[in-house]
Amino acid sequence: MAVIVKTNALVLSTSKWRESSKIVHMYSADYGYLKTVAKGAYRPKSPFRGVLESMNYIEAVVNYKENRGLQNLNSATLLDAFQTIREDLPKTAIALSILEVIQKLLAVHEPLPEFFNYTSRLMRALNDADVPEPRIFLAHFLIRISQELGFAWSVAFCNDCQAPGQQFPVRLQVQHGALRCRSCPYGASDQALILNQQELDELQRLLVVDPASLQSIQLNFQESLTTLLLKRLAHHTETILELKSLKWYV
Ligand SMILES: [Zn+2]
Repeated sequence: MAVIVKTNALVLSTSKWRESSKIVHMYSADYGYLKTVAKGAYRPKSPFRGVLESMNYIEAVVNYKENRGLQNLNSATLLDAFQTIREDLPKTAIALSILEVIQKLLAVHEPLPEFFNYTSRLMRALNDADVPEPRIFLAHFLIRISQELGFAWSVAFCNDCQAPGQQFPVRLQVQHGALRCRSCPYGASDQALILNQQELDELQRLLVVDPASLQSIQLNFQESLTTLLLKRLAHHTETILELKSLKWYV
């Protein structure tokens, strides 16, 4: 039986369907990932116009039926268009990369409502941040979603001898999602980032910081960190995570 439900949601992506309708992929607070159809959304006088764009934060009213692949979107109200993100190319690339990861991973994994709240706060913080290098927001997101899906990163102790990372440099390994200190064995084929003490301290802060304080973190290895985080996620979820939005990042 179908029921009418109201939920907040982030629009992940859209595509045209038939004459004038729109398929809208969204990540919702109460139902997780939803694929919906907005009938007549491309008609000139449709109330959906301007509301169903990628990245918009909306309130959606959905005719919801469990186990139905395509839900009917009855109406939608725009709550936040994240205008400051849209006016900034690096921020846009990061925000769309986050949405791409959600679409690729949460479509098949059961999302939790707290994670929706976290993602909304992260988008708001990205919108409000005054940073030239917003890639740190993507790194934070990749660490959190990894944790959410059951393969958290562990950066307090060496994965082999269990000693706190004291002998530097340490290696941050993709394979175990953990640290390996300088004196412990290390396979030549393992992919890793080599970190000095200051870099490890920054990474440890990144793992616990709230999105609103993210811009206070200075990481000088953001690009290689993002690549490493994506590799581990791709490996564990068996998903190809080559983000097309990230290619716009300049
Ligand atoms: Zn060790």
